[in-house]
Amino acid sequence: MTPVLIRMRDDDNVAIVGNEGGLPAGTVLPGGVTLRERVPQAHKVSLVDIGAGTPVRRYGVTIGTAREPITAGRWVHERLLEMPPARELRGLPMATHRAPPMPPLAGHTFQGYRNADGSVGTRNLLAISTTVQCVAGVLDVAVDRIRRELLPRYPNVDGVVGLEHTYGCGVAIDAPGAEIPIRTLRHIALNPNFGGEVMLLSLGCEKLQPERLLPPGTIPIGGAVRLQDDQHVGFDSMIGSILATAEHHLERLNARRRETVPASELVVGVQCGGSDAFSGATANPAVGYATDLLVRAGAAVMFSENTEVRDAVEQLTSRAATPDVAEAIVRELGWYDTYLARGGVDRSANTTPGNKAGGLSNIVEKAMGSVVKSGSAAISHVLPPGEKLARDQRGLVFAATPASDFICGTLQLAAGMNLHVFTTGRGTPYGLAACPVVKVATRSDLARRWHDLMDMNAGRIADGAQSIEEAGWDLFRLLLDVASGRRTWAEQHRLANALVLFNPAPVT
Ligand code: CA
Repeated sequence: MTPVLIRMRDDDNVAIVGNEGGLPAGTVLPGGVTLRERVPQAHKVSLVDIGAGTPVRRYGVTIGTAREPITAGRWVHERLLEMPPARELRGLPMATHRAPPMPPLAGHTFQGYRNADGSVGTRNLLAISTTVQCVAGVLDVAVDRIRRELLPRYPNVDGVVGLEHTYGCGVAIDAPGAEIPIRTLRHIALNPNFGGEVMLLSLGCEKLQPERLLPPGTIPIGGAVRLQDDQHVGFDSMIGSILATAEHHLERLNARRRETVPASELVVGVQCGGSDAFSGATANPAVGYATDLLVRAGAAVMFSENTEVRDAVEQLTSRAATPDVAEAIVRELGWYDTYLARGGVDRSANTTPGNKAGGLSNIVEKAMGSVVKSGSAAISHVLPPGEKLARDQRGLVFAATPASDFICGTLQLAAGMNLHVFTTGRGTPYGLAACPVVKVATRSDLARRWHDLMDMNAGRIADGAQSIEEAGWDLFRLLLDVASGRRTWAEQHRLANALVLFNPAPVT
């Protein structure tokens, strides 16, 4: 077996082992260093002798300092590394880096559903919003009946989505922070994949009343279906009322057709989950390349996950297009530092046992691999959690969200995402009902075992079968196909995770 080492930068003093199954002690590595112990796949090996207290570098940055002398050829695992403190949010370089010139990329289109407000859907879905969790059981039954009894008569409608959540009552609805879950729900109801057809199911006595959830003018004609209304006598009457209302919306949705629209109509959210040390070497750089292509084509691309970009803050503020954007990045990450501190933790609470088994020693290393998804464009906008992108906010956007897969996905839906890219190294069957999720594997082994769950294999980069540029172009083309209606594996299996709201406010 030819040993494969992946070194990110020339001045890195560690590299990761690319070979499936890892490499045994005694292996002579490219460059002449001999392994002193077995090193698992995706884990780091020291390329030179590293003295105690000396920086260990990957991605050209210090991911930790050596707790003891590390001789060349050793397995550099988390126990050998002292994590550096987080960079202070003062004295950062603000909009100092001039992003490389990005020539516009013209001529790329997809087949999408144009909405009345000018936005474009990649799917034509009936979504039923809810004010409160109390109605979820009734909605489940209704959605099942709509799917079986009504949808066959409306073949141009791609599906029906019950927007269930745990918010709406039993919460301190006027507390600071409560505006985040409320505006998240409001903006999800207006996601471009729902064709502007807002349908709302309410209980009646809940704190989050329909008028508080939706802006004036978007409450559906005839109002919300309210289960406590006198007209409802018994369960069947409730279900009948929901089905009758759904038919009005289905008729209008069914009349819509896909049309050719420019790639600039894409609002793409990028995210990773179940990451390993390959994430930052294969899938995330491929996503970063595709991000640059999308930005050049005029699309909006959101990257998120506060705790996974916190250690790259200097890189982000310097890449901001203007000092105002840089200040907004500092504001969002500063707010999040305070939020974490209130819970007695910091960014290091992010890493999982799976991340560490996958070779990621700490959050610094994870963050450096995660932020690569943002490509190289200047950051043009910052979006606070739950807010919606305006039509003219295109280019690279930092949408500040927690890194939790479901919360990040939920907030990106609120931002107006019509296509989602998700990279994984450990493997997750993640999906969303409201938006196609294109999943990219970081390793060929995962892509092989999960052949009917992963939409693309970026592990070919580590195998030497494809360059980052080629994988980036493949992903870009795949995204246009999926936006045009090609179904992802998650859609084919109907895999969808719950909407999970970010609620920093108290419950009662
Ligand atoms: Ca995530």
